[in-house]
Amino acid sequence: MTLVSRLLAGAMLLAAPVAVQAATKPAPKAAAVAPVNAAPGDAYFKAGEAALAKALTVSPNTGRAKNVILFLGDGMGISTVVASRIYEGQQRGVDGESNSLSFEKLPWTALSKTYSHDTQVTDSAAGITAITTGVKTRNKIIGLTGQSLPEKCDSEAGQRVETIAELAKAHGLSAGAVTTTRITHATPAGTYAHTAYRDWEGDNDMPSEALKAGCVDIARQLVEAPTRIRLDVALGGGRSRFLPEGKDGKRADGRDLTAEWLKAPGAAYVTTDAQLAALDPAKTGPVLGLFANEHLPYEVERPVLGEGVPTLAAMATKAVDLLSKNPKGYFLLVEGGKIDMGSHLNNAKRTMTETIEFSKAIQAVIDKVDLNETLIIVTADHSHGLVISGYANRNAPILGLAGNEGEPIVAGDGKPYTVLSFATGPGGVEGDGARADPSKEDTDDVDYHQQALANLPSSAHSGEDVGVFADGPGAYLVRGVVEESYIYQVMRHAYGFDAR
Ligand SMILES: [Zn+2]
Repeated sequence: MTLVSRLLAGAMLLAAPVAVQAATKPAPKAAAVAPVNAAPGDAYFKAGEAALAKALTVSPNTGRAKNVILFLGDGMGISTVVASRIYEGQQRGVDGESNSLSFEKLPWTALSKTYSHDTQVTDSAAGITAITTGVKTRNKIIGLTGQSLPEKCDSEAGQRVETIAELAKAHGLSAGAVTTTRITHATPAGTYAHTAYRDWEGDNDMPSEALKAGCVDIARQLVEAPTRIRLDVALGGGRSRFLPEGKDGKRADGRDLTAEWLKAPGAAYVTTDAQLAALDPAKTGPVLGLFANEHLPYEVERPVLGEGVPTLAAMATKAVDLLSKNPKGYFLLVEGGKIDMGSHLNNAKRTMTETIEFSKAIQAVIDKVDLNETLIIVTADHSHGLVISGYANRNAPILGLAGNEGEPIVAGDGKPYTVLSFATGPGGVEGDGARADPSKEDTDDVDYHQQALANLPSSAHSGEDVGVFADGPGAYLVRGVVEESYIYQVMRHAYGFDAR
């Protein structure tokens, strides 16, 4: 069988149930005999009817949002959502393809165009800036307009743009950020930092000219922000950027920023899940929780590296408890930050397990907030080059080989291919070598790298649109194909704040 005929056969197989039925059905002999429509008895048809009945009950909530919770799946493109929904279903022993992650059940959705001010494919710095400020900027830049230039300290002047967290604080609300990465990493920094270079997370990450010119590292910006706009809750990793060299940290200026955080009235600094859980919201002021020196471990590493590290769900729900004591409301960012990092490794297992944890955290928060007063938005800053390649059978393991009835589908080079692969990354062949035969590898291993078309040390992001999923007051404005920067406008409008 040639490759083309094999593919055609595969395509016909997919259409088989309907096509065979139609071909074998006897033609009606008389005009008086009504044509048979088998659809109403069909399970897909019934599921569609039920979905329609549910959709007809959804009406726009045009009220004001007291709270806004923005869930950001870093690098969580559409294919990542689909692969993760299949994986999550397969792990629970249910049909993966028709399974839904928690946020896929939210009633309002849109597609978000993620290009940045200067590139087709954004990075997380420009991506989060678009979402939290309404302004697209250049890659590598956080909280400044596109007039600033990456790594150019002197280009920061006059280009600062207000974040939705700062806007909420300025109106008397509380604000927080929760992440599985360093709290100084690009996405969480997008709630509070303004910098020409996302990597300036601590002073040791900055060139001396930038320090001399007065640019301030991201960790200092978190701690030194004026009280009226400073975050009330910041949970994640990244202790090294807050502690001095020689004391578990990397700061060259000798400062212990955790001690400086504690100078605020009622402030708390915690480093373990037990300490976080023990905080009494009624008696606690601003909370800084740093649960690792660098990023938090991947979920798949939790049995080995996760002692004392809270789950994303535990951090997100505690943040809601801490912020909810403000009667005026709050803004909260919750980032599933390591979805992106799994994909940079071409490691789909890590990407999907992080996405599933992200989905669990969203459900845990939805279970405790009132959607009549809380706008929930779930989106990604950009996609990744993850591909779900045809034509594996229904229920084929998502981490396995593409195959039919137990027989792997063989590509033109005589080797099978995995269901999941990447456009670029470390899974690509180095030099002029040949592609490995994945049937000779354990493609379900936690350290397996899916193959990539082109070798790069770290997979490149990709530029197609990402999904936006929403519920609550103002969520009905999440519809159509929108600019990534539009999401800010929806949040601002939902709060009832004027543009300023
Ligand atoms: Zn990335």
